[in-house]
Amino acid sequence: MIKNFFREDLKDFKPYDAEKNEYRIRMDANESYLHFPDELKEKLLEAVKDFALNRYPDPTASDVCRAYADYAKVDFNSLMAGNGSDELIQITSNAFINDGDKVMILSPDFSMYNIYIKLAGGIPIVFDLDEDFKLNAEELIDNVNREEVKLLFISNPNNPTGGVISRETIIKIIEGCNCIVVIDEAYYEFYGKTVIDLIDKYENLIVLRTCSKAMGLAALRVGFLASNKILLNELRKAKPPYNLNAVTQTIAEVVLRETEIINSNIKAILEEREFLLQGLKEIENIKIYPTNSNFVTIKVNDAEKVNKKFLEEGIKVRSFKAGRLKNCLRITVGSRAENEEFLKVLRRV
Ligand code: PMP
Repeated sequence: MIKNFFREDLKDFKPYDAEKNEYRIRMDANESYLHFPDELKEKLLEAVKDFALNRYPDPTASDVCRAYADYAKVDFNSLMAGNGSDELIQITSNAFINDGDKVMILSPDFSMYNIYIKLAGGIPIVFDLDEDFKLNAEELIDNVNREEVKLLFISNPNNPTGGVISRETIIKIIEGCNCIVVIDEAYYEFYGKTVIDLIDKYENLIVLRTCSKAMGLAALRVGFLASNKILLNELRKAKPPYNLNAVTQTIAEVVLRETEIINSNIKAILEEREFLLQGLKEIENIKIYPTNSNFVTIKVNDAEKVNKKFLEEGIKVRSFKAGRLKNCLRITVGSRAENEEFLKVLRRV
């Protein structure tokens, strides 16, 4: 039986079920709704025109790391590029987790931590946020140290809640936890606060960033990990040699140097977030969770019913069916027309 060769511990795993582009309005994946101006598109085409497709890409992705270093104001030697920050979560898991090691994650938090921890042979230990999705940091630190976990993953701002943990508390966590602390700042640009400046101060800190959200480069797959020399040296042992393809490296480098466009896109998304929030506040019987991201999470009486209506209208939002997020909907900020249409449908249901 071919099944005898399969991994027993993956028996109940489901392949990641990402939606294809079959909806009129996509407000489910926390992508940017913006497109680049034609001049920038021309520039990108020009940059890849004479590509040496027969050659392997730069294994250290040094040019794009330099561009990101300038953008994030860190030393480029502190960076590792990944095929999306997703890959960097996997590399981190593979680099530090031995079979049976415990790793702490929050609930709710980004679902892929759980998957990559298990794939690496680790045991996820879940620490619940409270009813309002707030963190009791002292209790978390106690649990981390009592359980003797190796790694702690935290997204800040949190996906899917949109909530944040203050810098002061993050520092308490880094200082108090006897483990490697990964702060995933995928949504940093919509919050504006970071701990990336502390990577050389603390020996146990890793910061993750992505170009999939504020930069509007989800299709390219590029993310960055920032840390100190000692941790980076370990992480490099688990990195696939040519993980970032040459087209991605080149295009991302050009885009990362267009700080004016990036900043004006962030501003536009934040304005639309405000518009969406204002509209939501005028609707009765919904709970709105505070957001510092490019999405808003709300709780309704019957998310399944509401979601069905949206799907009929060709609008895709993220609907949570079970667990702590039951009856929650996560709505990615869209364009003005998309936000208006979303609000119109929600008002009706
Ligand atoms: N971290 C968080 C918190 C996310 O929400 C996501 C994407 N949904 C990622 C990491 C992965 O992003 P990417 O692989 O596109 O960089």
